[in-house]
Amino acid sequence: MSTNTGDATATLAVNELFGPTFQGEGPNQGRLARFIRLFGCHLTCEWCDTPQTWDRRRHDLTAEQQQLGVADILNWLADSPGGLVVITGGEPLLQQRALEPLLAAINQSDLAAEIEVETSGTIAPSAAVVEAVTRFSVSPKLAHSTLLERQRLRPAALRQFVLSGKAHWKFVVQSMKDLDEVEHLVAQYRLDPVWIMPEGTDSTTVLDRMRLLADPVLARGWNLTSRLHILLWENARAR
Ligand code: SF4
Repeated sequence: MSTNTGDATATLAVNELFGPTFQGEGPNQGRLARFIRLFGCHLTCEWCDTPQTWDRRRHDLTAEQQQLGVADILNWLADSPGGLVVITGGEPLLQQRALEPLLAAINQSDLAAEIEVETSGTIAPSAAVVEAVTRFSVSPKLAHSTLLERQRLRPAALRQFVLSGKAHWKFVVQSMKDLDEVEHLVAQYRLDPVWIMPEGTDSTTVLDRMRLLADPVLARGWNLTSRLHILLWENARAR
């Protein structure tokens, strides 16, 4: 349990709170979960599935964000009991100073036994965040994101996640050639365990890519995850 309660009056820019639903991705796929989606991202992945958190060309960003205090979010969790708490985005670690008191408050309550943070791995987590979370789901972006390498890969931050001992590595993959890129990163930064997830926001694309990737992923000794929420509800918001 974290002992750093930070600024209990901090507020967070939140895009949406939703659940209970299922965690759709990664090692906890299928588990009951509640999601706190924070607003804002410093990256611009071409295939981003949550552009409402950052892309003013496609979304009214004023309407997409609300400032919530720690107490507001705890009250919502109390009214939506059950399962993991997943902190996602956008990029949630852009707000990690404000996140610290929320994580501490959740740990000091009986509102969740596990907290998972989903991140692009480009911002090193603070010691308080590392202490407070159960695990990080770190998703370094590949070249097909169209980001520059210096934008999407921050070696010092990646090493901090490795050192945390709490990182699971989830790579969004479109095609077979992306697996070679993943293999290079896994070897360079000693990333483990690895999950491969098909990129796609409709069930047909997700299933087609999973079938394409399954045997090559097995051959490399990695894990494969679908996107359960897409298979169940296509690209519906807040599911
Ligand atoms: S890091 Fe995530 S939220 Fe940010 S642009 Fe890329 S996919 Fe979207």
